[in-house]
Amino acid sequence: MRLSTLVLRPYSSVRNMSPREGSLEAPTRHPIDWHNPDFYSVESALEEMERVFDICHGCRRCVSLCNAFPRLFDLIDESPTLEMDGVPKAKYWAVVDQCYLCDVCYMTKCPYVPPHPWNVDFPHLMLRAKAIQFKQGPRTKFRDTNLSSTDRNGKLAAIPVVVHVVNAAAKVPIIRSMMESTIGVHKNAWLPEFTSKTFRKNVSASKTRVITDGKRTKGKVAIFSTCYVNYNEPGIGFDLTKILDHNDIAYVIVEKEACCGMPKLELGDLDSVAALKEKNIPPLAKLANEGYTIITPIPSCTLMFKQELPLMFPHDTDVQAVKAAMMDPFEYLIGREKDGLLKKDFTSKLGNVSYHIPCHSRVQNVGQKTREILEMVPDTKVTTVERCSGHAGTWGVKKEFHDIALKIGKPVFRQISEAQPDYISSDCQLAAHHIEQGISLLKIDQPEHKVQIAHPITLVRKAYGLPD
Ligand code: SF4
Ligand code: SF4
Repeated sequence: MRLSTLVLRPYSSVRNMSPREGSLEAPTRHPIDWHNPDFYSVESALEEMERVFDICHGCRRCVSLCNAFPRLFDLIDESPTLEMDGVPKAKYWAVVDQCYLCDVCYMTKCPYVPPHPWNVDFPHLMLRAKAIQFKQGPRTKFRDTNLSSTDRNGKLAAIPVVVHVVNAAAKVPIIRSMMESTIGVHKNAWLPEFTSKTFRKNVSASKTRVITDGKRTKGKVAIFSTCYVNYNEPGIGFDLTKILDHNDIAYVIVEKEACCGMPKLELGDLDSVAALKEKNIPPLAKLANEGYTIITPIPSCTLMFKQELPLMFPHDTDVQAVKAAMMDPFEYLIGREKDGLLKKDFTSKLGNVSYHIPCHSRVQNVGQKTREILEMVPDTKVTTVERCSGHAGTWGVKKEFHDIALKIGKPVFRQISEAQPDYISSDCQLAAHHIEQGISLLKIDQPEHKVQIAHPITLVRKAYGLPD
């Protein structure tokens, strides 16, 4: 990419519109128009990509966020005209493949999002392109469909006996090489282990409590456990219930639960997203209407209910009720603290915590609530890293993207490694494992230092001195 092109130029077809950069009004998000037949028109999508890519070419702010923008700018800089008109439209899909829908370019960088008349929504344009690709049936559809079926995979892999075979097989190099050549999962990518002691089957019921609502928070919560916590790391869920118990907050587990749909959304498989929504929303809306706050311990799932489903189903009152009731766990705990209802009787110091805020937490626009809670623990130093780890759900384990995922995360790995933390902690546990793997690959000569990964919820449970 030529750095000499890093200049701000107006977009040709909107030259007569407002020359003002950015907008003084709060950003808005248009609903995803996925029921409109034009949404799936290749010609119309390519036209919109040309328009938006041209604006990005003139702006280039997002060059360091991910690999989608460098890929786009390389295409332009290597074209005969050095402009969008020199890039064959068939090459646009190479940009689409590099986007993992983290939403950071929209939420934190772009001055041209609506209501600005240039109306740039890069992530949702990429979503539209992915939806078209999915309908057409890409080469990797079999791998992608299976990887994104987190609920089904968890149910199968969590069967006793099967679970041991699956976990052991994932550690055998020859099997990993076969997995790479047959289903396209990179042989070196970290993969989560499954457990037969799933969260939803083994969680203890909440004690009977007097419900104490605060000004900002409800005194009873419903836990949407998520596929990852249910089938892979139920300890995070158990720790969450211990924190709630300790703070006299009543909880229920959502009666029926399927995958939130985020892995399917990231593929552009919008029909599957809609099918999962039909399973999840009725029980969640019932809880929302009964006055529960709904919390999920994985930021991508929270974002799915807070943002993506409401934009896909803007007129569905149940979806909107769930959106209004949904909170990040630390957003909820800070709300309790502001209500004077959070216990701060922390008995165990945490030491030096390197806290990574994942993209899907950042774009919820609730501030750094996890950091605020961790900083309440005495004798605890929190260093916050606010940058993409590169993992991006299932994207970072795919054969063709794993090395790029490690490259994107390198500044994060380096920053965390240099902090010499006692704990590496991220609201996204997948990101934490990816960071651990990335650090192990850095050739940094540092004294032997024992570091553990622990989810922020687990750290708070430890800080309260509550047993494992
Ligand atoms: S949504 Fe994320 S991955 Fe996609 S282009 Fe924007 S910053 Fe890059
Ligand atoms: S998404 Fe917005 S901020 Fe990012 S490069 Fe494009 S126009 Fe610039």
